[in-house]
Amino acid sequence: MSKIAFIGLGNMGAGMAANQAKAGHDVRAFDLSAAALERARDNGCTPVASVAEAVEGAEVVITMLPAGPHVLKVYAEEVFGKAPTTALLLDCSTIDVDTARKVAGLARDAGYVFADAPVSGGTMAADAGTLAFMVGCDEPEFGRIEAALEPMSRATFRAGDHGAGQAAKICNNMVLGITMLATCEGIALAEKLDLDPARLFDIMAKSSGQSWSVTTYYPWPGPVPTAPSNRNYDGGFAAAMMLKDLKLAQDAAAKSGASTPLGAQTEALFQMFNGLGYGGRDFSAILQMLRGKLDELPK
Ligand code: NAD
Repeated sequence: MSKIAFIGLGNMGAGMAANQAKAGHDVRAFDLSAAALERARDNGCTPVASVAEAVEGAEVVITMLPAGPHVLKVYAEEVFGKAPTTALLLDCSTIDVDTARKVAGLARDAGYVFADAPVSGGTMAADAGTLAFMVGCDEPEFGRIEAALEPMSRATFRAGDHGAGQAAKICNNMVLGITMLATCEGIALAEKLDLDPARLFDIMAKSSGQSWSVTTYYPWPGPVPTAPSNRNYDGGFAAAMMLKDLKLAQDAAAKSGASTPLGAQTEALFQMFNGLGYGGRDFSAILQMLRGKLDELPK
Protein backbone atom coordinates (compact mmCIF):
# COMPACT_ATOMS: atom_id res chain seq x y z
CA MET A 1 0.00 0.00 0.00
CA SER A 2 1.34 3.44 -0.93
CA LYS A 3 0.33 6.87 0.29
CA ILE A 4 -0.94 8.68 -2.77
CA ALA A 5 -1.92 12.35 -3.04
CA PHE A 6 -4.39 12.87 -5.89
CA ILE A 7 -5.04 16.47 -7.00
CA GLY A 8 -7.80 17.22 -9.53
CA LEU A 9 -10.88 14.98 -9.34
CA GLY A 10 -12.81 16.05 -12.42
CA ASN A 11 -14.16 13.95 -15.29
CA MET A 12 -10.86 12.05 -15.52
CA GLY A 13 -9.32 12.35 -12.07
CA ALA A 14 -12.40 10.94 -10.29
CA GLY A 15 -12.10 7.50 -11.90
CA MET A 16 -8.30 7.49 -11.78
CA ALA A 17 -8.22 8.22 -8.04
CA ALA A 18 -10.92 5.60 -7.48
CA ASN A 19 -8.78 2.97 -9.21
CA GLN A 20 -5.80 3.80 -7.00
CA ALA A 21 -8.05 3.34 -3.95
CA LYS A 22 -9.45 0.09 -5.38
CA ALA A 23 -5.88 -1.17 -5.75
CA GLY A 24 -5.54 -0.81 -1.97
CA HIS A 25 -3.63 2.46 -1.79
CA ASP A 26 -4.26 5.18 0.79
CA VAL A 27 -5.48 8.00 -1.48
CA ARG A 28 -5.75 11.49 -0.09
CA ALA A 29 -7.72 13.46 -2.62
CA PHE A 30 -8.11 17.20 -3.19
CA ASP A 31 -10.13 19.30 -5.62
CA LEU A 32 -11.50 22.85 -5.48
CA SER A 33 -15.00 21.41 -6.00
CA ALA A 34 -16.93 20.16 -2.96
CA ALA A 35 -18.99 17.82 -5.16
CA ALA A 36 -15.80 16.24 -6.51
CA LEU A 37 -14.56 15.67 -2.95
CA GLU A 38 -17.82 13.97 -1.99
CA ARG A 39 -17.60 11.72 -5.03
CA ALA A 40 -13.99 10.85 -4.06
CA ARG A 41 -15.18 9.82 -0.59
CA ASP A 42 -17.83 7.56 -2.17
CA ASN A 43 -15.06 6.04 -4.30
CA GLY A 44 -12.88 5.02 -1.35
CA CYS A 45 -10.54 8.03 -1.18
CA THR A 46 -10.00 10.33 1.81
CA PRO A 47 -11.01 13.88 0.87
CA VAL A 48 -8.76 16.58 2.36
CA ALA A 49 -8.97 20.36 2.60
CA SER A 50 -5.85 21.44 0.69
CA VAL A 51 -3.04 20.34 -1.61
CA ALA A 52 -0.61 20.72 1.30
CA GLU A 53 -2.65 18.29 3.40
CA ALA A 54 -2.85 15.80 0.53
CA VAL A 55 0.89 15.75 -0.18
CA GLU A 56 2.07 15.57 3.44
CA GLY A 57 3.97 12.28 3.80
CA ALA A 58 2.96 11.18 0.27
CA GLU A 59 5.00 8.59 -1.64
CA VAL A 60 3.35 9.47 -4.95
CA VAL A 61 1.68 12.73 -6.01
CA ILE A 62 -0.62 12.56 -9.04
CA THR A 63 -2.15 15.67 -10.63
CA MET A 64 -5.00 15.72 -13.18
CA LEU A 65 -5.66 19.43 -13.76
CA PRO A 66 -7.15 21.47 -16.62
CA ALA A 67 -4.09 23.19 -18.18
CA GLY A 68 -0.48 24.38 -17.88
CA PRO A 69 -1.07 27.40 -15.59
CA HIS A 70 -2.93 25.21 -13.05
CA VAL A 71 -0.13 22.64 -13.08
CA LEU A 72 2.64 25.22 -12.66
CA LYS A 73 0.80 26.97 -9.84
CA VAL A 74 -0.08 23.79 -7.92
CA TYR A 75 3.48 22.39 -8.10
CA ALA A 76 5.35 25.68 -7.54
CA GLU A 77 3.15 26.97 -4.74
CA GLU A 78 1.67 23.89 -3.09
CA VAL A 79 3.73 20.76 -3.76
CA PHE A 80 7.43 21.74 -3.79
CA GLY A 81 8.68 22.06 -0.24
CA LYS A 82 5.52 20.46 1.17
CA ALA A 83 5.70 16.90 -0.23
CA PRO A 84 8.67 14.82 0.96
CA THR A 85 11.51 14.97 -1.61
CA THR A 86 11.24 11.16 -1.85
CA ALA A 87 7.76 11.55 -3.36
CA LEU A 88 7.37 10.64 -7.03
CA LEU A 89 5.56 13.51 -8.80
CA LEU A 90 3.40 12.55 -11.79
CA ASP A 91 1.46 15.11 -13.80
CA CYS A 92 -1.17 13.35 -15.94
CA SER A 93 -2.83 16.57 -17.22
CA THR A 94 -2.49 17.58 -20.87
CA ILE A 95 -0.35 20.73 -20.98
CA ASP A 96 2.14 22.45 -23.27
CA VAL A 97 5.60 20.99 -23.65
CA ASP A 98 7.37 24.16 -22.42
CA THR A 99 5.44 24.23 -19.14
CA ALA A 100 6.01 20.49 -18.62
CA ARG A 101 9.77 21.05 -19.05
CA LYS A 102 9.66 24.08 -16.77
CA VAL A 103 7.91 22.14 -13.98
CA ALA A 104 10.38 19.26 -14.45
CA GLY A 105 13.29 21.70 -14.07
CA LEU A 106 11.79 23.28 -10.96
CA ALA A 107 11.16 19.81 -9.53
CA ARG A 108 14.75 18.75 -10.17
CA ASP A 109 16.05 21.95 -8.51
CA ALA A 110 13.84 21.21 -5.48
CA GLY A 111 15.16 17.62 -5.28
CA TYR A 112 12.18 15.69 -6.71
CA VAL A 113 11.68 13.11 -9.44
CA PHE A 114 8.97 14.37 -11.80
CA ALA A 115 7.38 13.01 -14.95
CA ASP A 116 4.88 14.32 -17.46
CA ALA A 117 2.48 11.41 -17.95
CA PRO A 118 -0.55 12.52 -19.98
CA VAL A 119 -3.18 9.98 -20.90
CA SER A 120 -5.27 8.79 -23.78
CA GLY A 121 -8.56 6.95 -23.48
CA GLY A 122 -11.23 9.32 -22.15
CA THR A 123 -13.46 9.04 -19.10
CA MET A 124 -14.60 5.48 -19.81
CA ALA A 125 -10.97 4.31 -19.73
CA ALA A 126 -10.30 6.47 -16.66
CA ASP A 127 -13.16 4.72 -14.86
CA ALA A 128 -12.12 1.27 -16.10
CA GLY A 129 -8.41 1.69 -15.32
CA THR A 130 -7.49 1.18 -18.97
CA LEU A 131 -5.80 4.46 -19.93
CA ALA A 132 -2.72 4.69 -22.14
CA PHE A 133 0.04 6.77 -20.51
CA MET A 134 2.76 8.62 -22.46
CA VAL A 135 5.63 9.40 -20.14
CA GLY A 136 8.42 11.95 -20.35
CA CYS A 137 11.06 11.18 -17.71
CA ASP A 138 14.65 10.26 -17.00
CA GLU A 139 15.16 6.71 -18.28
CA PRO A 140 16.19 5.10 -14.96
CA GLU A 141 13.00 6.32 -13.27
CA PHE A 142 10.59 4.75 -15.76
CA GLY A 143 10.19 1.42 -13.96
CA ARG A 144 8.81 2.88 -10.75
CA ILE A 145 6.70 5.42 -12.65
CA GLU A 146 5.12 2.58 -14.64
CA ALA A 147 4.44 0.68 -11.41
CA ALA A 148 2.79 3.73 -9.80
CA LEU A 149 0.53 4.23 -12.83
CA GLU A 150 -0.37 0.54 -13.13
CA PRO A 151 -3.82 0.62 -11.38
CA MET A 152 -4.98 3.22 -13.94
CA SER A 153 -3.26 1.84 -17.02
CA ARG A 154 -3.71 -0.54 -19.92
CA ALA A 155 -0.39 0.51 -21.49
CA THR A 156 2.38 2.83 -20.34
CA PHE A 157 5.01 4.07 -22.78
CA ARG A 158 8.16 6.07 -22.15
CA ALA A 159 7.98 8.62 -24.96
CA GLY A 160 11.38 10.13 -24.12
CA ASP A 161 12.84 12.77 -21.82
CA HIS A 162 10.84 15.45 -19.97
CA GLY A 163 8.19 17.00 -22.24
CA ALA A 164 8.13 14.03 -24.65
CA GLY A 165 4.97 12.64 -23.02
CA GLN A 166 3.19 15.93 -23.71
CA ALA A 167 4.56 16.04 -27.27
CA ALA A 168 3.12 12.56 -27.90
CA LYS A 169 -0.20 13.56 -26.37
CA ILE A 170 -0.50 16.73 -28.48
CA CYS A 171 0.20 14.77 -31.70
CA ASN A 172 -2.27 12.04 -30.69
CA ASN A 173 -5.04 14.49 -29.89
CA MET A 174 -4.58 16.46 -33.09
CA VAL A 175 -5.14 13.18 -34.94
CA LEU A 176 -8.16 12.45 -32.70
CA GLY A 177 -9.73 15.86 -33.41
CA ILE A 178 -9.25 15.35 -37.15
CA THR A 179 -10.69 11.79 -37.14
CA MET A 180 -13.67 12.88 -35.05
CA LEU A 181 -14.49 15.67 -37.51
CA ALA A 182 -14.00 13.25 -40.41
CA THR A 183 -16.37 10.75 -38.75
CA CYS A 184 -18.95 13.49 -38.14
CA GLU A 185 -18.73 14.63 -41.75
CA GLY A 186 -19.27 11.03 -42.89
CA ILE A 187 -22.37 10.73 -40.69
CA ALA A 188 -23.76 14.08 -41.85
CA LEU A 189 -23.30 12.99 -45.47
CA ALA A 190 -24.83 9.54 -44.84
CA GLU A 191 -27.92 11.17 -43.36
CA LYS A 192 -28.39 13.38 -46.43
CA LEU A 193 -28.03 10.27 -48.61
CA ASP A 194 -30.74 8.43 -46.58
CA LEU A 195 -28.18 5.97 -45.22
CA ASP A 196 -28.83 5.08 -41.55
CA PRO A 197 -25.79 6.36 -39.55
CA ALA A 198 -26.09 3.28 -37.30
CA ARG A 199 -25.70 1.06 -40.37
CA LEU A 200 -22.75 3.20 -41.49
CA PHE A 201 -21.18 2.36 -38.11
CA ASP A 202 -21.48 -1.40 -38.75
CA ILE A 203 -19.74 -0.93 -42.07
CA MET A 204 -17.06 1.59 -41.09
CA ALA A 205 -16.13 -0.34 -37.95
CA LYS A 206 -15.02 -3.17 -40.26
CA SER A 207 -13.78 -1.01 -43.15
CA SER A 208 -10.98 1.46 -43.80
CA GLY A 209 -12.90 4.38 -42.27
CA GLN A 210 -12.40 2.70 -38.89
CA SER A 211 -10.82 4.69 -36.02
CA TRP A 212 -11.19 5.17 -32.26
CA SER A 213 -13.70 7.94 -33.06
CA VAL A 214 -15.83 5.30 -34.80
CA THR A 215 -15.44 2.16 -32.70
CA THR A 216 -15.20 3.63 -29.19
CA TYR A 217 -16.80 7.04 -29.44
CA TYR A 218 -19.30 6.99 -32.30
CA PRO A 219 -20.94 10.45 -32.31
CA TRP A 220 -24.36 9.10 -33.36
CA PRO A 221 -26.35 7.50 -30.50
CA GLY A 222 -26.92 3.74 -30.49
CA PRO A 223 -24.03 1.75 -31.90
CA VAL A 224 -21.59 2.38 -28.99
CA PRO A 225 -23.75 2.46 -25.84
CA THR A 226 -20.96 3.91 -23.62
CA ALA A 227 -20.25 6.85 -25.97
CA PRO A 228 -21.33 10.35 -24.83
CA SER A 229 -23.66 10.61 -27.87
CA ASN A 230 -26.08 8.37 -25.91
CA ARG A 231 -26.37 10.86 -23.05
CA ASN A 232 -26.82 14.00 -25.09
CA TYR A 233 -23.04 14.53 -25.15
CA ASP A 234 -22.87 15.08 -21.40
CA GLY A 235 -19.53 14.49 -19.62
CA GLY A 236 -16.77 12.80 -21.62
CA PHE A 237 -14.07 15.02 -23.15
CA ALA A 238 -15.31 18.60 -23.24
CA ALA A 239 -15.09 20.45 -26.56
CA ALA A 240 -13.23 23.21 -24.69
CA MET A 241 -10.55 20.67 -23.72
CA MET A 242 -10.25 19.46 -27.31
CA LEU A 243 -9.88 23.07 -28.44
CA LYS A 244 -7.14 23.52 -25.82
CA ASP A 245 -5.25 20.51 -27.20
CA LEU A 246 -5.67 21.64 -30.81
CA LYS A 247 -4.28 25.06 -29.87
CA LEU A 248 -1.32 23.38 -28.14
CA ALA A 249 -0.70 21.43 -31.35
CA GLN A 250 -0.90 24.56 -33.53
CA ASP A 251 1.40 26.51 -31.19
CA ALA A 252 3.88 23.64 -31.25
CA ALA A 253 3.60 23.40 -35.06
CA ALA A 254 4.19 27.14 -35.46
CA LYS A 255 7.24 27.06 -33.18
CA SER A 256 8.74 23.96 -34.80
CA GLY A 257 7.82 24.76 -38.41
CA ALA A 258 5.70 21.61 -38.87
CA SER A 259 3.00 21.65 -41.54
CA THR A 260 -0.40 20.77 -40.02
CA PRO A 261 -3.14 22.23 -42.26
CA LEU A 262 -5.84 19.73 -41.21
CA GLY A 263 -5.01 20.42 -37.56
CA ALA A 264 -5.45 24.14 -38.25
CA GLN A 265 -8.83 23.59 -39.93
CA THR A 266 -9.97 21.34 -37.07
CA GLU A 267 -8.94 23.98 -34.54
CA ALA A 268 -10.95 26.62 -36.45
CA LEU A 269 -14.10 24.44 -36.41
CA PHE A 270 -13.79 23.67 -32.69
CA GLN A 271 -13.17 27.38 -32.07
CA MET A 272 -16.49 28.09 -33.82
CA PHE A 273 -18.30 25.36 -31.83
CA ASN A 274 -16.90 26.69 -28.54
CA GLY A 275 -17.71 30.26 -29.56
CA LEU A 276 -21.35 29.24 -30.02
CA GLY A 277 -21.41 28.25 -26.34
CA TYR A 278 -21.01 24.44 -26.52
CA GLY A 279 -17.55 24.14 -24.94
CA GLY A 280 -18.96 22.15 -22.02
CA ARG A 281 -20.46 19.41 -24.23
CA ASP A 282 -18.45 16.36 -25.21
CA PHE A 283 -16.35 17.11 -28.30
CA SER A 284 -18.22 14.56 -30.43
CA ALA A 285 -21.26 16.89 -30.21
CA ILE A 286 -19.67 18.93 -33.01
CA LEU A 287 -21.68 16.51 -35.19
CA GLN A 288 -24.77 18.60 -34.40
CA MET A 289 -23.09 21.73 -35.80
CA LEU A 290 -22.29 19.93 -39.05
CA ARG A 291 -25.89 18.59 -39.21
CA GLY A 292 -27.31 22.08 -38.61
CA LYS A 293 -29.07 20.75 -35.49
CA LEU A 294 -27.56 22.89 -32.74
CA ASP A 295 -31.07 23.86 -31.66
CA GLU A 296 -31.45 20.25 -30.37
CA LEU A 297 -28.23 20.42 -28.31
CA PRO A 298 -28.34 21.79 -24.74
CA LYS A 299 -25.48 24.21 -23.93
P1 NAD B 1 -12.15 18.60 -15.51
O1 NAD B 1 -12.30 20.06 -15.74
O2 NAD B 1 -13.36 17.72 -15.44
O3 NAD B 1 -11.30 18.36 -14.16
C1 NAD B 1 -10.28 19.20 -13.71
C2 NAD B 1 -10.43 19.30 -12.20
O4 NAD B 1 -9.32 20.05 -11.67
C3 NAD B 1 -11.71 20.03 -11.77
O5 NAD B 1 -12.47 19.19 -10.93
C4 NAD B 1 -11.19 21.26 -11.04
O6 NAD B 1 -11.99 21.66 -9.95
C5 NAD B 1 -9.83 20.79 -10.58
N1 NAD B 1 -8.89 21.87 -10.25
C6 NAD B 1 -8.59 22.97 -10.98
N2 NAD B 1 -7.65 23.70 -10.33
C7 NAD B 1 -7.37 23.03 -9.20
C8 NAD B 1 -6.48 23.29 -8.11
N3 NAD B 1 -5.71 24.39 -8.06
N4 NAD B 1 -6.44 22.40 -7.09
C9 NAD B 1 -7.23 21.29 -7.11
N5 NAD B 1 -8.09 21.01 -8.11
C10 NAD B 1 -8.14 21.87 -9.14
O7 NAD B 1 -11.14 18.09 -16.64
P2 NAD B 1 -10.89 16.59 -17.11
O8 NAD B 1 -11.76 16.28 -18.25
O9 NAD B 1 -10.84 15.70 -15.92
O10 NAD B 1 -9.41 16.76 -17.71
C11 NAD B 1 -8.27 16.91 -16.88
C12 NAD B 1 -7.03 16.87 -17.74
O11 NAD B 1 -7.01 15.63 -18.45
C13 NAD B 1 -6.97 17.98 -18.78
O12 NAD B 1 -5.65 18.43 -18.89
C14 NAD B 1 -7.46 17.28 -20.04
O13 NAD B 1 -6.95 17.90 -21.21
C15 NAD B 1 -6.90 15.90 -19.84
N6 NAD B 1 -7.62 14.81 -20.52
C16 NAD B 1 -8.99 14.75 -20.50
C17 NAD B 1 -9.63 13.70 -21.13
C18 NAD B 1 -11.15 13.57 -21.13
O14 NAD B 1 -11.67 12.71 -21.88
N7 NAD B 1 -11.86 14.33 -20.32
C19 NAD B 1 -8.89 12.72 -21.81
C20 NAD B 1 -7.51 12.79 -21.79
C21 NAD B 1 -6.88 13.85 -21.14
